[in-house]
Amino acid sequence: AHEQAASPASATRNGRKGRVNSPLRTGLFIDGKWRSNSNKFDVLNPADGSLAARVSAGGESDVDDAVQAARRALAGEWAEVPGARRAALLNRLADMVERDADTLARLEALDIGKPVGQPAAFDVPNAIATFRHFAGWADKIQGTTVPTAGYQGRPTHSYTVREPIGVIGAIIPWNTPLMIAAWKLGPALAAGNTVVVKPAEDAPLSILHLAGLIEEAGFPPGVVNVVPGFGDVAGAALVRHPGVDKISFTGSPEVGREIQKAAADTFKRVTLELGGKSPQIVLEDADVEAAVQGIAMGLFFNQGEVCAAGTRILVHRSRYERVVSLLADVAKAQVVGDPFDPDTTMGALISREHLDRVLSYIERGKAEGARLVAGGGRPSTKGYFVEPTIFADVRNDSAIAREEIFGPVGAVMPFDDVDEAVRIANETEYGLAATIWTRDVSLAHTVARRLRVGTVWVNGWAAIDPALPWGGMKASGIGRELGWSGILASTEEKVVTVVL
Ligand code: NAD
Repeated sequence: AHEQAASPASATRNGRKGRVNSPLRTGLFIDGKWRSNSNKFDVLNPADGSLAARVSAGGESDVDDAVQAARRALAGEWAEVPGARRAALLNRLADMVERDADTLARLEALDIGKPVGQPAAFDVPNAIATFRHFAGWADKIQGTTVPTAGYQGRPTHSYTVREPIGVIGAIIPWNTPLMIAAWKLGPALAAGNTVVVKPAEDAPLSILHLAGLIEEAGFPPGVVNVVPGFGDVAGAALVRHPGVDKISFTGSPEVGREIQKAAADTFKRVTLELGGKSPQIVLEDADVEAAVQGIAMGLFFNQGEVCAAGTRILVHRSRYERVVSLLADVAKAQVVGDPFDPDTTMGALISREHLDRVLSYIERGKAEGARLVAGGGRPSTKGYFVEPTIFADVRNDSAIAREEIFGPVGAVMPFDDVDEAVRIANETEYGLAATIWTRDVSLAHTVARRLRVGTVWVNGWAAIDPALPWGGMKASGIGRELGWSGILASTEEKVVTVVL
């Protein structure tokens, strides 16, 4: 959470509760050096609204400095660093993230309000695995030789090479910042690019800590630069900058659309990872108990502030009332509270503004006539908490079924046959992910083929892995990151033809 800093408040550095066991980084990391600006913004602890840190806000000239540093690094020693050495640097970075895993998990909990056990078990290990995965690719990025018909009666020798795109601007959302920064840095650095990272103004702390680890790991100055600041200032300056070759953006569809338009002026490559309204389909033969556990995770993990949250729950009519009642029970059993209490299963939403937005969707759900079976209010007036909420009998054309709420709000609806389930699942502007709950293997594959989404999970939710391409169809985005697709998205393909 953030606010524009009004006065030189007495920042408590570690948040009021002192639950982060290392000093916070609050500056800008440009060309291998730290700087601070007089213009700062307040980072708030969502669990109680207290000041967690005051972070320098990068302006247009800071972004320009960072891009210039990245361009110099690209043309300097980094260009000659062989893949095996880039791999070693990425592996060293992974080791350092592992060493500081506890600090990083605590920073995510402090900054975002999520229960500390979640980043400890998920975000941080995923970031480590991502750096290691891409270390593995760094010395294996190859082209091919291509047989051709020749040229003017003469034979030719043609081959392709994959070269770094250049300077990549990485714009990060607040919900899982460390992990998404790793998703963008891993492939970019493995392929030899240089990067300017713009963390979200609501949650910059873990990425600033990561910048310190990048420095310690020994990446040459300018290879990675981190410029915290506001989206419409620092983010927009990065998108406009002629020295940036590609923007890799994760965030909302509204901002994604603006970025793609603005990037067109300078023909930047663009990857967009946007929102979702992912269906979870419970087929007639599903193991209902297992499905409900997975559905609850897809709704309440990270307070529902997850792009792939499985928020539309489509249930075969024969199992419908059972799923509704079990889901209501699981929702009521969630322990909402202090992110640093080990018993907590759901923390606070990111900000007051976002809490109000989620609550207004809950009011719309009630007004639209959906049946509220769990939650719907605030458990306390302190902090930005909202109750885990389940609506049944939701119409797929209602606002709570169509729009991304980005909070712990599930919309359950019945279907009568597989065709209807597929139709409802696809009747959305989004296409990020879907889950199918069934014991019928061939039916699982048949339904998976018919869903217009980037990822289908069968009998699980968010089984993500750095080896698997990630991205969405339709309004959920353009392009893929992670796996070999991440390398393809971080390189340009060049053809060389020699007329023999
Ligand atoms: P957001 O779009 O408000 O902000 C994302 C980032 O863009 C922030 O760093 C912000 O400062 C920056 N930004 C804002 N305006 C900008 C501008 N005009 N130019 C350049 N940069 C600008 O999104 P958010 O609220 O931080 O994140 C929530 C959204 O992210 C949700 O829609 C969610 O679904 C999506 N998301 C998608 C994925 C995915 O992998 N598909 C993952 C996580 C989150």
